Amino acid sequence: MHNKIADILQNSVLNKDDLIILLSADKENSELIFKKAAEIKSKCVGNFTYFRGLIELSNICSKNCLYCGIRNSNKEVERYVVSDEEIFNSVQYALDRDWGSVVIQSGERMDTNFINKVEYLIKKISQMGEKQPGITLSLGEQKIDTFKRWFDAGATRYLLRIESSNPKLFAQIHPQDKLHNYEKRIENLYNLQKLGYMTGTGVMIGLPFQTIEDLADDLLFMKKLDIDMVGMGPYIEHENTPLYQYKDLLLPVEERYFLSLKMIAVLRILMRDVNIASATALQAINPDGREEGIRVGANVIMPNITPLHYHKSYNLYKGKPDIIPETDNYIKNLEKQIALAGDTVGYGEKGDPKHFFKRTLGN
Ligand code: SAH
Ligand code: SF4
Repeated sequence: MHNKIADILQNSVLNKDDLIILLSADKENSELIFKKAAEIKSKCVGNFTYFRGLIELSNICSKNCLYCGIRNSNKEVERYVVSDEEIFNSVQYALDRDWGSVVIQSGERMDTNFINKVEYLIKKISQMGEKQPGITLSLGEQKIDTFKRWFDAGATRYLLRIESSNPKLFAQIHPQDKLHNYEKRIENLYNLQKLGYMTGTGVMIGLPFQTIEDLADDLLFMKKLDIDMVGMGPYIEHENTPLYQYKDLLLPVEERYFLSLKMIAVLRILMRDVNIASATALQAINPDGREEGIRVGANVIMPNITPLHYHKSYNLYKGKPDIIPETDNYIKNLEKQIALAGDTVGYGEKGDPKHFFKRTLGN
């Protein structure tokens, strides 16, 4: 097995069988994969970690994804929308610390009020700071006109996870209706690329019914779509969701965590110059999870800068590290951990994905 993995890591092209073998590696062999991913990261994107301040704008959602704690039908959630003033304060917090970018994430809404509010926020945030901050959106599926309005207002990146690239598994984790449609979601990703967004996707790792083969296909899906950014992390069950009934089918959380690290590393080897976020869900399982993600190939961390009193209501999954204050002390410690993982924080830079420029300009 050892030699097989070392051999595969010499290959310049990885096929599905190779990916399956890499993703199945045990603890000892996986260190070979992690080392290779670290080398490629260093060579292709440099030893930098970029911070993006994450603002969880609202937990109001019109959808009902079967895995998500803030799904529309969960009546136990206290719904909120962060006020404009609080948002600007949070952005200022990020700018004061010289983080080049912010991410605005929310439950999905397509109503005019929401679209207008987001457009207004993007325009305002674009004018903050000496350099225009990078603005990433993670606001679910939208009409192409809405994507365009937000792009024209100043957003440059968009994250829309495919959640699973296997249409059958996608159908098992979503309600069967027009709102939750696999082809539509892919069409959204193409629309984002067409409009000129740096486009990100990702999947949940360790879902019920998911196989290693599915995960290998997920990586090939990202490669085929020529995606610029990836955010992926472990699936963590939430008791007020329909998918919770399958909790006994799940891998132990430590294994979901380990598998997620391997997914990050193998993706770095496969796609080389994309941006890879070290997901918050890694931290929900292991307090040092995000830093470990950095060690094995990720180069983006999204510290949560949503005002603290909203954190408990943005419970996508159980044990989301909602109470950890992203205070200056915490950030200092994070910096130390990042240094231990071999990186420097890319302060004052947007940290755009190099892959995007190659994809669009050919350089
Ligand atoms: N509404 C938007 C953005 C917010 S949800 C959207 O769905 O695109 C952001 C991400 O949280 C989702 O893409 C999903 O991958 C992740 N998520 C939701 N529930 C989760 C769970 N139980 N475990 C792990 N990740 C989860
Ligand atoms: Fe809404 Fe996103 Fe959760 Fe689905 S994953 S229910 S769209 S917040």
